[in-house]
Formats: sequence, structure tokens, C-alpha cells
Amino acid sequence: MAKRDYYEVLGVSKQATAAEIKKAYRKMALKYHPDKNPDDKDAEAKFKEAAEAYEVLSNADKKARYDQFGHQAFEGARGFGGGGMNMDDIFSQFGDIFGGAFGGGGFSGFGGGFGGGQRRVKGSNLRIRVTLTLEEIANGVEKKIKVKRKIQAPGTTYKTCGTCNGTGQVTRITNTILGRMQTSAPCQTCGGAGQTIDKKPADADAQGLKVAEETVSVKIPAGVVDGMQLKVTGKGNDAPGNGISGDLLVAIQEEEHPTLKREGDNLHYDLYVSLPDAVLGTSTEIDTVTGKVRIKIEAGVQSGKILRLRGKGIPSINGYGKGDLLVHVNVWTPKTLNKQQKEFFENMREDEHFAPKPESSDKSFFEKVKDMFS
Ligand SMILES: [Zn+2]
Repeated sequence: MAKRDYYEVLGVSKQATAAEIKKAYRKMALKYHPDKNPDDKDAEAKFKEAAEAYEVLSNADKKARYDQFGHQAFEGARGFGGGGMNMDDIFSQFGDIFGGAFGGGGFSGFGGGFGGGQRRVKGSNLRIRVTLTLEEIANGVEKKIKVKRKIQAPGTTYKTCGTCNGTGQVTRITNTILGRMQTSAPCQTCGGAGQTIDKKPADADAQGLKVAEETVSVKIPAGVVDGMQLKVTGKGNDAPGNGISGDLLVAIQEEEHPTLKREGDNLHYDLYVSLPDAVLGTSTEIDTVTGKVRIKIEAGVQSGKILRLRGKGIPSINGYGKGDLLVHVNVWTPKTLNKQQKEFFENMREDEHFAPKPESSDKSFFEKVKDMFS
């Protein structure tokens, strides 16, 4: 079969940017994903085709060769020309496509489902929650987490299931008015595993599993968001027999920061300056996610002014740039005054110099907010 043009496969133009190519592929991968299209050979072929197109077009060097020579550029090269990419290669791309959130493992239910072979039983997933500080989120962190997971008990042995003869499926033939119908269902005896327990130690459960505590290292990329879920492939419960282990699903919880408020990738900091400091100007230290930073406050600063510290926010989870830190200036007005202070301000009140004369640069709060989002 002649190969389709890679740009056509992803539905992008030859002038498409790297971001557009990535976006197009992400759409294809989700649409034709095997989890969404079980036992659909056409979807599987499209899924592989899109992955191969992305593999080439996402790599500047390969893309340049492809643009010049077309498919001939890769004739006979390893991984191409022949059967295309295998599923492991495709899923290993996903860390990049979906921002590391998929670990590099597959999706649930994937495992032996391809290639027409026997479907392997998968262990159940485990869920845990990790609480991260804003600093950890901003910089990325590796967490060692203690997990109680079911593992195959040492000493457990298996034998081929007598009911299904190891296929994990039972075929039933029924007579209907349309003739003989053949249906397959997972084997009830072995739960589809194709194997049953032969011998097991006393501390193992009916499936030959036992609970063990394990320390799992979880790499958390910078920029994660509260509520996001990361997957550590194979660190859930083991499956009995030759099944594949479930996954560990790690839910992210963000700890509230004492002074910084997060809004997407941007951070906000409320700065309070005294009346004299606002009038005379000053410099002061403020918190950032990478430590304290000294900033200058110009003489004559207005309350409500927003200072934007570019790139001092949270990195984007997709790896595109960083948010900003917005410092909101609040001029602190004293609530009480002694006699002397009161006289001082009484005198100032009479002075025409202190009457407000807003300039166009002293934008109102609403105009500033409008600017920020435009
Ligand atoms: Zn069976």
C-alpha cells in the first residue's frame, strides 16, 4: 500500500508550525486511540499512521529530509519502511505530547490487546494524593511515596486453566433462527487470565497476591495544576499469573502559599507600602517561587499599580514559557494619628500640591485589568 503524505495524514499544511503539528497529532491520537476504538483495525492503522507522521514531522532533521525526498528519505531505515512504529514507540511519544502526564506508559486496558493475541488481565489501579508547595510546582520535584500495593506472593505457581485451555476466552455456539452463532466471552474460571493458581503460600489471597509496602519515586513535572492526575505505569496492584500490573494514579493537590496567589501560570503578590515610602520611593524584598527578590518602588507610586515581573510565575505544563509575577501595590493608610501627625496632615490638606491630578498613565483599576487580559 502506498504511504499517504505525512502532512495530509495530520491534516496540516506544509507551512504548519511545530505547535500546529503537535496539536493536530494530539487530536488524531485521541480520536483513533485504541481505548476508544476497541477491535477496530482501521482506527488502529490510522493511529499508527498518525504516530509515524508525527515522529517525522516533529523532528526538525527528519522533517527537512522528508520535505526534500518524501517517503524515500526513510526507505529501509530502522522502524520505517517496514511495518511502521510499534505501540511501545507510540506510547513513549505521549509523555511529550501530553506534557508528561502519561508517564510514558500506555493507557488502561492496553496490553496484549493488539496483534490479535490473547488479552492479558490487568491489575487494579491504585490512587494516592500528593500535596505540593507552590515552590515544588514551579520547579518540578521528585517525590518518594510509600505505597501499599498487592504484589505476586513469592512461591505462588500457576497452571493452565482447564476451562479455557489457557486462552482466557470461552466460545459458545448457540442455535438461532439465523443459524449457528458463535460468541466469545472471558473465561469465568480464570477471569480471562488463562491460568489458575496451582500452589500458593499461606499469606497470599485467593489470587496469589499479598500486600507489600513499596517506595515509589514519582517525577512531577513543573507546572502541574491542582486536581491533575499523573500516572506511574505498573505501580498499581499486580495481576495474577502473567497479567500486567495496574497503574498508580497520583492526584496533585496544591498547598496554599502564605503570600503568593496562583492564577493559571501567573502569580499575584499583594505589596503594602507606607505613605512615606509611596511618596519618597523605596526598595523592598518580595517572595517569589525561587526565593526572595528585591524590587524598586518609584517615588510617587499610585495605589493599585501593578508591577509585572516577567517569567517569575509558574512554567507552563506544556513546556511553553513561564507565567509572570504581578505585584499589586497597595498604599497603606494609617487609621489613627497622634496630635502632631494629625497637624502635619491638616497642613498638607490645605496645600494645592496634594490635590489629585491623575494623568493618563494612572489608569483605573478596570482599565488595568482589561489590559492584562488583552
Ligand atoms: Zn480460563
